[in-house]
Amino acid sequence: MAVPKRRKTGSKMRMRRAHWKTEAPTYATCAQCRQPKLPHRVCKNCGYYAGRQAIETE
Ligand SMILES: [Zn+2]
Repeated sequence: MAVPKRRKTGSKMRMRRAHWKTEAPTYATCAQCRQPKLPHRVCKNCGYYAGRQAIETE
């Protein structure tokens, strides 16, 4: 495999890192309790997932 001959300069490193950005997390709405929840995860509020009680909540 090819190996870089020269180390990237500090300037080039900063230019590359200038594109690193944080993203706001995406949210889905729970069909059961209408609370915001993360997609493809059990609802923390009511414990429902895919229209059924997946975990017990108090
Ligand atoms: Zn819910």
